[in-house]
Amino acid sequence: MKKLNVKTGDTVVVIAGKDKGVKGKMLVALPQEDRVIVQNANMVTRHKKPRRQGEPGGRIKQEGTIAASNVMLICPKCDKATRVGHAVEKDKKVRVCKKCGKNID
Ligand SMILES: [Zn+2]
Repeated sequence: MKKLNVKTGDTVVVIAGKDKGVKGKMLVALPQEDRVIVQNANMVTRHKKPRRQGEPGGRIKQEGTIAASNVMLICPKCDKATRVGHAVEKDKKVRVCKKCGKNID
């Protein structure tokens, strides 16, 4: 299984596609598909049918998946979009910011 450099809860920025520049929290990681879902990015409208009587149907806006390579992590320490490096700290694998060198996890 491929491992993504970003994970759920990270703040990321979209670096390609129609939502380039959108920043948001990563909601879902789909490492098998190499895709992610980011808050407010790639919004798609879905049509929803009312399931019960009295329930409003209609259109709802929802985030669609985007390619993991189209997002970049925003470092919580220096607040810059960065590539992710890896390091071992106390026998634990951690991610480090390539810009400021600080431990992200
Ligand atoms: Zn940083």
